[in-house]
Order: sequence, then C-alpha cells, then structure tokens
Amino acid sequence: MSVTLGVPTPTTEAERGHAASESLFDVAVQQFHIAAEVIGLEHHLREIFTHCERELTVNFPVEMDDGSIHVVTGHRVQHNRLPGPTKGGIRFHENVSLSEVRALAMWMTWKCSVVGLPFGGAKGGVEINPKLLSQNELQNLTRRYTTEIQPIIGPNKDIPAPDVNTNPQIMAWLMDTYSMNMGYSVPGITTGKPLALGGSEGRGEATGRGCVFVLEEAAKKYDVALDKSVTVIQGFGNAGSVTARCMEEIGSRIVAVSDSRGGIYNPKGLDLDAVEAHKARTGSVVDFFEAEAVSNQDILEIQCDVLVPAALEGQIRADNADRIKAKLVAEAANGPTSPEADAILHDKGIVVLPDILANAGGVTVSYFEWVQALQAFPWTADQVNERLREIMQRSFHNVVAMSEKHSVDLRTGALGSAINRVAEISRLRGVYP
Ligand code: NAD
Repeated sequence: MSVTLGVPTPTTEAERGHAASESLFDVAVQQFHIAAEVIGLEHHLREIFTHCERELTVNFPVEMDDGSIHVVTGHRVQHNRLPGPTKGGIRFHENVSLSEVRALAMWMTWKCSVVGLPFGGAKGGVEINPKLLSQNELQNLTRRYTTEIQPIIGPNKDIPAPDVNTNPQIMAWLMDTYSMNMGYSVPGITTGKPLALGGSEGRGEATGRGCVFVLEEAAKKYDVALDKSVTVIQGFGNAGSVTARCMEEIGSRIVAVSDSRGGIYNPKGLDLDAVEAHKARTGSVVDFFEAEAVSNQDILEIQCDVLVPAALEGQIRADNADRIKAKLVAEAANGPTSPEADAILHDKGIVVLPDILANAGGVTVSYFEWVQALQAFPWTADQVNERLREIMQRSFHNVVAMSEKHSVDLRTGALGSAINRVAEISRLRGVYP
C-alpha cells in the first residue's frame, strides 16, 4: 500500500479556514483574552490558562497489510488539570497539528466548565487519513498510539473519547489495549464505547441532541419558530447527521447538508432517510438525486433560519461572514468561526451559539458514561436524555445571563463564565508548591 500516512493533503487556506500565520491555537488564545478582559481576570491566571500544561508527541511505527512499515505522528495534550481528570476526544486526520490539538484541548477545558463538569480539557490527534487504512491497519495504529500515550492517560487522569474520524470501535480497541497493558478491564479509560463494553445509552446522539436542546432554548429567547424553520448543515457525520435528525423531528426543513466531498441542496427539503441510504451506498452525500450540488463554502451562504457548522474549524471567517444569512448559527463543530467573523455576525444581529456550549452535549454524556463505568451501574436512555436536557438548558441560561451582564456576545459570555469557574478552582487550590 503506497500511502502517505503522515503527509498532509494539500488544502487551500480557505479550506483550512485560517491563515497559515495564524494557528488555531492563536484563535483560541485571542478568544480567551477577549473574555479574560471582560471578567477582569488576574494576570497570572491569564498566563497559566494560555499555556497547555502537558503535551506529549509520539512518533511510532505501524505495520501495513503488505508488510511495509510507516512512522506515524500523534499527540495528546492536557490543557488544565485542576478541575479534575482531563477529558477530550481523539481525532484521526492527515492535517492534525500540535497547534490544532492545543486549541481543541483548551476549548475542552472551557466546554467542561461551561456545563459544570468536574473535568479539565485535553485532546488527542493522529496525523493520518484513516480512510486509506484497512480495519487491521487501523486497529494496529490505534493500539500502538494508545500504548504510546498510556503513561499520561487513565480513568482518573485523562479520559479519551471519539472525535473526527474515530468511533466506538476505535474506543473499544483503545479500552482493550489499555486494559491488556494494565492486566484487568478498565471501562472508565474511555467514553464513546460500544454499549456492550459499558458505553452509555444516548452517547452516540448526545452532541447533536444537546445542540438541538440549546437551539430550542435559543429559539424561544430570540423568537425563531423552529417548527417552521429552514436548516442548513455543513458536515454530515456524527454531530451533523444527528442534529439534522433532531431538527427534522421538531419540524424544521433540512434544505442542505454536506460532507468532505461536497454538499447537496434542495429548497423544498431533503428526505434524510434517502440521503442516509445514498451515503451508506456511495460513501458520500454528493450526487444525491433530487438535489443540486453546492460547495462546502457556498452551503454556508444559503438563506436559512438555522445554520449548523458540523465539520471542521475555521469555516466562517472575515471574508465570508458578511454573506451568512441565518438567524441562528449553532456551532456543532469546534472552532468554526474566527474572532473577526464573530464581530461581523454580531453586528449583523446573527446569534452564534458558541461551540463550547452548543456541542457540549457530547462531553456531558461522556461524563455520564464515565460515572456509570465507575459505579458499574447503567442508566436508561430516558435518564440520560433528561439529565442532558436539564444541563444544556441550565447552561444556556447561565451563558445568556453572563452575556447580558457584560453586554457581550454569547461566545464571550460562555467563555467568561467557563473561565470564572476554573479561575475560582485555581485560586482555591493555589500554586504548588
Ligand atoms: P465525523 O467524522 O463523524 O464527521 C465529520 C463530517 O464532516 C463528515 O461528514 C466529513 O465528511 C465532514 N467533513 C470533513 N471535512 C470537511 C470539510 N472540509 N467540509 C465539509 N465537511 C467536511 O466527526 P464528528 O464527530 O461529527 O465531528 C464534527 C465536528 O464536531 C468536529 O469539529 C468535532 O470536533 C465536533 N464535535 C464532535 C463531538 C462528538 O461527540 N462527535 C463532540 C463535540 C464536538
């Protein structure tokens, strides 16, 4: 197999979503400083919070089915360990970089904090395109990466989960590898596991479902009738497809969806069952009959009530924000909007439900899964979904209260409220030694 496992695919600046000179971590730090200024955070805490506490980069060999051996690079970054064990997904993507993983780890700290979970933030990334690997190669890679990062992960240290291009099967291999290395089963090492291994009811749908719980509250507050709304979704993976389903359930018309190969648009509404069947058959939503093709950039500019970026970061920027026509933007993806675009959308009166709130349903049910694993006592789907709804609703109203108190947008309100909580923990724990 002649694959370039560790070599990034060439993408344009627009596709990557941010200028090469400005890394994703720069964006996360810029957002942080805006909120830190608003809440008047002490200088030393700004210094601490703009660094990741621990970063591990590993380079390891993986044997391919044809006997060739490739060296693959992976990372695990823990941003802040004071609120509790760290928590965050693992992303498999050829363009993953340390800067991206740092940014995602920092956002995880704020995300856990904004919904009140006893976790700090972490993230993992492996620089490969998993679609070029066989199942056997993917399993080898996952097991070796797990062993490489084992010294810093653990059910009371740092608990991974799925993210882009990783799934319950990969979490099962991770859990098995960690357990084999320890000599006993450790279900609390990861979340997003299959149900049979101690996964939680509702975890697979949690990000999309949580996003829609937030959207429902936002729609009441900002006067948008979701049952008569039009929705556009960029990215039709775990987060995007479940958001689409939940929006459809409450009566919204889903007119456009996309994946990495492109998008499809039908102003009369897409039949999601048929789209999913098409995707299962062909591997993509593109070329779906009864829809016209639309690019991943143009899809963002379609007239709609609700726009859900659910793919990758850096999609709404200074150069296209002015053409966004939605009333509500719900960030199912992490980091889809740049700070410049935030200001433009705010001036246009478009409400952005920020990633650390809008997609926090995933980590919330991951937290439920971790609690169930530690107690060896599973909850029902109804218990999971009801507790998720309660947390998402309460968190939305806390964020709104913070934004209104300081007359700032919801992102700054969410970050301000999240940073305040970690700051309080830091002040109480003090500086060791
Ligand atoms: P996924 O791999 O299941 O789906 C990603 C989707 O985006 C796929 O449909 C893929 O084809 C598409 N995509 C990839 N590159 C694209 C591009 N350039 N343009 C348009 N579409 C593209 O991943 P996911 O878990 O759904 O994650 C999507 C986003 O949601 C990520 O930003 C992730 O960090 C975030 N997120 C996911 C979870 C979760 O629980 N899965 C939780 C919180 C946040």
